[in-house]
Amino acid sequence: MGFKLGRHSKAELKGVHPDLVAVVKRAIEISEQDFTVHDGLRSKAEQREYVDRGVSWTMKSKHLKQKATGFGHAVDLVPYINGKLRWEWPAIHLIASAMRQAAKELGVKIRWGGCWERLDNSTLNTEIMVEEYTARKRRQGKRPSLDGPHYELM
Ligand SMILES: [Zn+2]
Repeated sequence: MGFKLGRHSKAELKGVHPDLVAVVKRAIEISEQDFTVHDGLRSKAEQREYVDRGVSWTMKSKHLKQKATGFGHAVDLVPYINGKLRWEWPAIHLIASAMRQAAKELGVKIRWGGCWERLDNSTLNTEIMVEEYTARKRRQGKRPSLDGPHYELM
């Protein structure tokens, strides 16, 4: 606990909506898992490249500058473990818990890419939220699009 955002993380938060930035800044203070802001605001060209590479699936991404506010409305928080970025679920869940608590404290409504549900007013274990989302998608004959590091304003 008591981690701090690094230089890269701070740079990635430029152009992101202040409400979401405040949640991320609070989350790093209370998180049991260190993380890096891997991605914040994206340009249209960057997003196009992500879609072409299959890393993202939409040009309606909340990482793009949103017309209504002029800010990006999404961040990707990736676990930072032993000096490396690691997309590992146990660590991702620790970050999700910190983001939930931070959003609750600050009264900011956020959706989590681990289950594409509102996170700040949920009480379920985040692992169960992912399981339920995955099961629901399977019942619908759809492939779940899990994006554990992703958080966006609602
Ligand atoms: Zn994202």
